[in-house]
Amino acid sequence: MEILNLPILYLVIPCYNEEEVLPETASRLKKLYTQMFGKLIHPNSKILFVNDGSKDKTWQIISTLHEQDTLYAGVNLSRNRGHQNALLAGLMTAKKHADIVISMDADLQDDINAVLKMIQKYTEGCDIVYGVRSSRKKDTAFKRMTAQGYYKFMAMLGVDIVYNHADYRLMSKRALDALEQYGEVNLFLRGIIPQLGYKTGTVYYERGERFAGESKYPLKKMLAFAFDGITSFSIKPVRLILTLGAIIGLFGIGYLIYCLVQNIIGNTVEGWTSLIGSVWLIGGLQLMALGVIGEYIGKIYYETKHRPRYIIESVLLNDNSKDA
Ligand code: UDP
Ligand code: MG
Repeated sequence: MEILNLPILYLVIPCYNEEEVLPETASRLKKLYTQMFGKLIHPNSKILFVNDGSKDKTWQIISTLHEQDTLYAGVNLSRNRGHQNALLAGLMTAKKHADIVISMDADLQDDINAVLKMIQKYTEGCDIVYGVRSSRKKDTAFKRMTAQGYYKFMAMLGVDIVYNHADYRLMSKRALDALEQYGEVNLFLRGIIPQLGYKTGTVYYERGERFAGESKYPLKKMLAFAFDGITSFSIKPVRLILTLGAIIGLFGIGYLIYCLVQNIIGNTVEGWTSLIGSVWLIGGLQLMALGVIGEYIGKIYYETKHRPRYIIESVLLNDNSKDA
């Protein structure tokens, strides 16, 4: 293949306080690029680091790398905005210059050699290629169980996410153009990307451990992220209230009848029937009313997202005016 026809690849790497890993990451990736230049990717391809408001020397390291070698590029965010937002900033910046963009973490826990397989899938016509972990052997039992439970729970709620896939993925320029149309503030990229459509592929890899530094995702951030994932894609929790209300309401009516019967038989203390009956009935009615309100809030919630209602993959149209 002619070199100039090769795709321009941008690697996007969000970094938050990653001074310990950055130099090593940069040099490992450069080696990978050297292998690919001229064979798989265009010489204008770059490695783009996004500094997510780090408090350490991360940005200085990125700037130095860029001065030494223009292979390295950097985006500096004004403050810490979290992994997902930093990633989006990088993707949208890279999209202007690249044909394909691959996102990965700064700690290189994701096997960088999967990049080759991803590009291979792209040349076979995939617009989105998911990096999927082949096993979770290196995780703690706790992380493994919670993660697996979470994927199952999300599937139950009707959220379409790729099993064991984090944010290691390849996206073509047009897939990124589609992503740009999603204007949501609570960003959960793993949930949005499968909604884009297009031809997708999967590449399996073994996930390693962080080679230096510690996780920037403490349990608290992880829980918040998990919750965001659910509440950004599903109104089922709200629906649950309505169902619960209906069940309790029905039960209330049944119980009221039972109480009345007891009352007629004379099996009760005075005041008991009306008290117990109304407690259940009113409780059920209240929950049901809340559920109905919830349904409307759910609708408003979906509307306020202004998500694109469709993404056009291709158009067949002969515009004759251009021929002139
Ligand atoms: N990260 C970020 N902003 C944050 C937290 C994390 O850009 O607020 C980056 C971090 O530098 C790394 C990636 O997100 O490149 C994943 O974080 P980490 O490896 O700490 O998460 P884990 O692998 O432990 O889930
Ligand atoms: Mg990590």
